[in-house]
Amino acid sequence: MSVLIKGGRILTAADDYVADIYAEDETITLIGEALDVSADKVIDASGKYVLPGCVDPHTHLDMPFGGTVTIDDVESGQTAAAFGGTTCHVDFIIQPQGATFAQALEEWRGKAEGKQVIDMGYHMAVTDLKEGGTLEELASLPDEGVTSYKLFMAYKGALMVDDETLFRTMEVAAETGALVMVHAENGDAIDVLVKKALAEGQTEPHYHALTRPPETEGEATNRAIQLARVAGCPLYVVHVSCKEAVEPIALAREKGWDVWGETCTQYFFVDYSFLERPDFEGAKYVYTPPPRAKENQAVLWNAVRTDVLSAISTDHCAFLWDGQKTLGRDDFSKIPNGAPGLENRLQMIHEFGVRAGRISLNRLVELLATSPAKLFGLYPRKGTVAVGSDADLVVFDPEKQVTITAASHHSKSDYNLFEGTEVTGSPEVVLLRGQVLVENDELVAKPGIGRYVARARFGKELRERVPA
Ligand SMILES: [Zn+2]
Repeated sequence: MSVLIKGGRILTAADDYVADIYAEDETITLIGEALDVSADKVIDASGKYVLPGCVDPHTHLDMPFGGTVTIDDVESGQTAAAFGGTTCHVDFIIQPQGATFAQALEEWRGKAEGKQVIDMGYHMAVTDLKEGGTLEELASLPDEGVTSYKLFMAYKGALMVDDETLFRTMEVAAETGALVMVHAENGDAIDVLVKKALAEGQTEPHYHALTRPPETEGEATNRAIQLARVAGCPLYVVHVSCKEAVEPIALAREKGWDVWGETCTQYFFVDYSFLERPDFEGAKYVYTPPPRAKENQAVLWNAVRTDVLSAISTDHCAFLWDGQKTLGRDDFSKIPNGAPGLENRLQMIHEFGVRAGRISLNRLVELLATSPAKLFGLYPRKGTVAVGSDADLVVFDPEKQVTITAASHHSKSDYNLFEGTEVTGSPEVVLLRGQVLVENDELVAKPGIGRYVARARFGKELRERVPA
């Protein structure tokens, strides 16, 4: 199977030029002007952009949470991703209490079996080093291609780890060349605030934000940065939502420390006031960290523009508003935390980042594809357009007008965070390793086409072929 993409404007984190791309057997083999080759499939990309397939470093598919399970499994979640121009993502395995890491990895890979539409890797969320996995087992995960460890500093009584577990994991990461990721919020303080609010009868969705003030995120971010410094491991702070967390990351990066941060699409658009929407509609916006005061949005745009924050993910963690979010009708702390977003990241950041003049096209590619690929051991097979890279490509029509709505999105969730937003610019053809996934607004490929990707250790390049 070979494919020729003719005359597109090729955009990478560094380049911007018009050329043809030829791919054979899953890999880009030629890039040049007016290539004189024949191919099984020819795509005319004149007037269009050609970007590397986007990489989402933060998603939750088929994940148990708060007595229910996310509504998107691997198939529906990855279908939504494909329509949005994302061809690879790294999902979170949550170590079940008492389970070994090997058991957790097997369980998660089993859930993806036969359902994969795009390529994927896994982070391991460490929840228990006492009865379940051991430090030795944790150290062996990078050999399986799981090269990042995630720790929750919040969700007390469920996913939260203490500082000892956090620090021991950091020490293992320093040894094995893994990247440590933290959900940075002070779970102990939040637990006190939540209990106090509920005791006072404050049960509505907006108390989700009022019991998780931005200082609790700032404190935990700084604590993780300082501990990572002591352990000597690289650190990646997920879903940064506010100035209080941006500032310690900016300071650490200014000092040249190995600290990176991401934010998520929704933090640029959804603010605290959404949580106050009447008739329980605010529950749609209950995710963690919560939507913040609007002035944080300018801080986040500036942070992604200046590389204080290095990636934009979705933290896709979809639930039904009607039937799942309603578990917390009478108690905000029982509302499952999370929202859909995998499909709309590229459209939204292109519209409000690039078209609004906040970031360049190159920076868009860097934030959504190249940096995540580099940070998570997927580069240069993923995250760029180059000879030797996987032919994961998005032919993007910068003129296409789309209204984002749950009525036409591909997540199984019954609402969309950006409902009614009009954007100009949307993926037209999406390819995974040279095979067409999406064309003419239809999923062309069958589930099962996607693969598990064994990722390289932090700072190392992924050169070998993705194993089948
Ligand atoms: Zn998450």
